Amino acid sequence: MISKLLRTIIMGPPGSGKGTISQRIMKDFDMKHLSSGDVLRKQIFERTAAGIEAEKYIAQGQLVPDLTMVNLIFNELEKLENHSWLLDGFPRTVAQAKEVLDRGPIDAVINLNVPFEVIIDRIKGRWTHPASGRIYHTVFNPPSKEGIDDVTGEPLIQRDDDRPETVRKRLEGYQLSTQPVLHFFNDKKLLKEFTGKYSNELWPLVHDYLATKTAPVQYTRYK
Ligand code: ATP
Ligand code: MG
Repeated sequence: MISKLLRTIIMGPPGSGKGTISQRIMKDFDMKHLSSGDVLRKQIFERTAAGIEAEKYIAQGQLVPDLTMVNLIFNELEKLENHSWLLDGFPRTVAQAKEVLDRGPIDAVINLNVPFEVIIDRIKGRWTHPASGRIYHTVFNPPSKEGIDDVTGEPLIQRDDDRPETVRKRLEGYQLSTQPVLHFFNDKKLLKEFTGKYSNELWPLVHDYLATKTAPVQYTRYK
C-alpha cells in the first residue's frame, strides 16, 4: 500500500471521547500519539529543568509558558521524524499553533464537536467508591445495588469534578480558551470538524477522512 506520513492534531473538550478516537487512529493509521500532558508528567517525574518549571504553573492551574511547551514538544517530534503522528493537547494557544505551522506542514486538525449537554449527561452518571477509586455509571456500568460499591458494600459518592455544574464550567472554560486556536486553523483551511454524540458514531467519519489524506496516490489512480 502506498501511504504518506501524516502529521495531525486532535482537539475536543474533556469527555468528548478524544482518548478513544486517538487510540483508534493510532491503531488503524500506525501513528504515534504525543500528548502534551504525558510529556509534561514525564518531565516532572524525571525532575528536568523544564519539568520543574512546568510543575509550578500546573500546580496553579495555569498553562505552561509557550516557549517551554514548544521546546518540549518539538524535541519529541524530532524523534518521530519517520513516523506519522497525532498531537493531543498541543497546540493550546495561537502562539503555539503558529510555531507548529512554522515548523512544517500539518495534514489535518480534527475537532470533535460533541454537544455539551451530551457530555454533561454522560459524566453526571458517574459514581465513585472513594476508598478504592472504583468507578460506576448509572447507565453503562451500574453497581448491583444502587449507590453501593459491589466489593465493600460501602456507599458511592459523586466526585465534585463530575457534578453537572462543575463539568459545565470546565467545558465553558475549554471552549473559551480553544476557540482562538480553532479559528486560527479554520482560517488556514486545516480544520475538520466532526459533530456527533458517540465515539462509535464519530469514528467511521474520522477514519474515512484520514484515509483520504494518507493515500492520495492510490485514490487518484483508481478513480
Ligand atoms: P486540564 O487543563 O483540564 O487539566 P487536561 O487534563 O487535558 O486538561 P493535560 O493535557 O493532562 O490536561 O495537561 C495538564 C496540564 O498541563 C494543563 O492543565 C496545563 O497546565 C499543562 N499543559 C498541557 N498542555 C499544554 C499546552 N499545550 N500549553 C500549555 N500548557 C499545557
Ligand atoms: Mg488534567
